[in-house]
Amino acid sequence: MKKLTYLIIAMGFFATATYGQVVNSNHGKRFEQLERMLRDPSVYRTASGAPGPKYWQQKADYKISATLDDENQRLTGSETITYYNNSPDPLEYLWLALDENVRQPDNDSYKFDPSSIRPRMSYGQIDALDGHDNDWGFHITKVADAKGQPMTYIINQTMMRIDLAKTLKPGEKISFNIDWWYNTTNRSESGARGGHEYFPEDGNYIYTITGWFPRMAVYSDFQGWNNKQFTGRGEFALTFGDYDVEMTVPADHIVGSTGSLQNAKEVLTSEQQQRWAQAQKEFVEPVKIVTLEEAKENEKEGTTATKTWNFKAENVRDFAWTSSRKFVWDAMAADIEGREDHPMAMSYYAKEAYGIYERYSTKAVAHTLKTYSKYTIPYPYPVAISVEASNGMEYPMICFNYGRTLPDGTYSEATKYGAIGVIIHEVGHNFFPMIVNSDERQWTWMDEGLNTFVQYLTEQEFDNNYPHRRGPAAKIAPYMALPKDQLEPIMTNSENIIGFGNNAYAKAATGLNILRETIMGRELFDFAFKQYAKRWAFKHPTPDDLFRTLEDASAVDLDWFIRGWYFTIDNVDISIDNVKWFKLDTKNPDVEYPIAEAAFKEANTDVADKRNREEGLEFYVEEDQRLQDFYYSYNQFEVTDEARTAYQRFTATLSDEEKALLGDDKNFYEIEFSNVGGLVMPIIIEWTYIDGSTEVETIPAYIWRKNEDKVTKAFMKDKEVAQIRIDPYRETADTDEANNYWPRNNQPTRFELYKSRGGGARGQSFGANPMQKANGGN
Ligand SMILES: [Zn+2]
Repeated sequence: MKKLTYLIIAMGFFATATYGQVVNSNHGKRFEQLERMLRDPSVYRTASGAPGPKYWQQKADYKISATLDDENQRLTGSETITYYNNSPDPLEYLWLALDENVRQPDNDSYKFDPSSIRPRMSYGQIDALDGHDNDWGFHITKVADAKGQPMTYIINQTMMRIDLAKTLKPGEKISFNIDWWYNTTNRSESGARGGHEYFPEDGNYIYTITGWFPRMAVYSDFQGWNNKQFTGRGEFALTFGDYDVEMTVPADHIVGSTGSLQNAKEVLTSEQQQRWAQAQKEFVEPVKIVTLEEAKENEKEGTTATKTWNFKAENVRDFAWTSSRKFVWDAMAADIEGREDHPMAMSYYAKEAYGIYERYSTKAVAHTLKTYSKYTIPYPYPVAISVEASNGMEYPMICFNYGRTLPDGTYSEATKYGAIGVIIHEVGHNFFPMIVNSDERQWTWMDEGLNTFVQYLTEQEFDNNYPHRRGPAAKIAPYMALPKDQLEPIMTNSENIIGFGNNAYAKAATGLNILRETIMGRELFDFAFKQYAKRWAFKHPTPDDLFRTLEDASAVDLDWFIRGWYFTIDNVDISIDNVKWFKLDTKNPDVEYPIAEAAFKEANTDVADKRNREEGLEFYVEEDQRLQDFYYSYNQFEVTDEARTAYQRFTATLSDEEKALLGDDKNFYEIEFSNVGGLVMPIIIEWTYIDGSTEVETIPAYIWRKNEDKVTKAFMKDKEVAQIRIDPYRETADTDEANNYWPRNNQPTRFELYKSRGGGARGQSFGANPMQKANGGN
């Protein structure tokens, strides 16, 4: 801070100072009202973001019996669907989702991704170039009405339309039956969310049975039928309903499922039933219902006998289950704020995951239920289950997660935190989208972004040193700094996203974190976010309902933030372009004249004078004594009695406050900021004074509303400033922090001495800075 400028002003100027604000051509663009981009409110969805007075949604109840053929890894099922038309519309046909058909040989999803010949290709990749040959997908063997009469239907890829003989009028319901079978796929080969995993060491399978029955598509007020095809990417849009499911599996299997077990007496031993009763009283340490020793014994030999498990679930949008003879099973009760009874937190895992899951899984489930319940609504279901199945995927009350130990039972910190993070995330999905039932086929971020955000809050409450992967603002900055042709707005359909994890998970979650920590504050945000969860629990919200609720409940204008963060690919980069330092002119000649004299000398110094003196040039005035006396007799900077009198007359006119201000020796700073990135944000300024003390103040984002590119702001400070930094806590995802400092703060970046190795070997980087490791994946 070298610059010292004097300001000669009238008193009182700072109180009303406004600086020349250029109204440029961008005026209003980033602060335009958001409502122009949202749907019109209706009797179904209000302008406040709540369900309207005539809100409706469809309902679908399922009674299903299924048989798992462990010999052929095949699932055979028969279902009765009862569909309730609660809409005001007569329906001529119904749409059902057949997601398993995405793997049928002629499915479009094999064809519509660009491909190329690469230097190294697997047999499977080469073989796939002339098409797919498999027996995957649903084999529909019966579609009949309640009287057993065949119904007309057509299958278009992953969607099935059933044509109704008689129009289904508003308020009516219809029951019909579908029979089917399909070959479950090996998930590691097919990349499917459900299927089987084979363990060659012991010859057993873990089945994860998901998307396994024809399910009703969503019919809604905002898009009619959502029959957008499943391509393997955009997930699911599903209708709430009640389920009664019977699964017939090998008698030595343990089944974990959505819902409550109805026939424990038939499928569990009396010892297991006793342990289950014990687990319901335990809140600290899970009780093992099947122990490791029992699981190891169980997986030694199979059986041809079968058992039928019966589960029931109410008000769920989907139903999934798992079955294996490899499972250890543990459980304990969870204490949930706002709920009288206690849901059971449970885990199912094979010996391969025992070291991690036995310690952390069920505890992570219980912690997740408690924390999410605090920020949303009390967890409403009877159970929440974590199944170790080598990767993560979510369903109501049950999810499949990751986290196996090395063969000796040990594991790295990375695997431990990876497992805990995935368990929190997948259990968290119970709230988004299983309860707050958004449309995943259209908007991945509506569940992944909200869930990843609450996951971040839950991780914070799990462990103070938790290595968060997504949530903190600074972690999303590198993604937002990418070239614009590699980015898309968060408001992009699920199928069309390039940066799936960064965009729909991380950026969407980080936006909520910035709202909470920086723009709204925790109190206002937490209330508004909870309000959204309360309004839309067990309903179908759209993005507009979320945006409107956050504003409706907080009185914070968020239009500019939602527009910038969710609808554009702008990034945050605010720069300090210039800082000017001012002092108030005291008008006291004894103070001001010496300063003016020094300034005069400085202003009139030039290189010719310097060289003239160095060369010993003889000056005319100095040679002539008489001229010299006359020449120097007047000093314009001499403080005269007239000047002192004038100053006294001036001070006599001042109020006490004005006199005090003149005597305070305040420091005035004028800072020029520019919005390099485009996304407007509050300007958070950290002042560091020359005595080492600091102060942080926030200028609201509204400062940009009349000029979105450049603003100047004036400040008055008691102390002299040594350094100014903006966004000191790295809370705005500023993509270039070098221009956040004044004076510029140059931190060295490490670079390496390159030395080629002897014998012509290729040089190798030994850079081992762990902080530079890429943080990959979704
Ligand atoms: Zn997820």
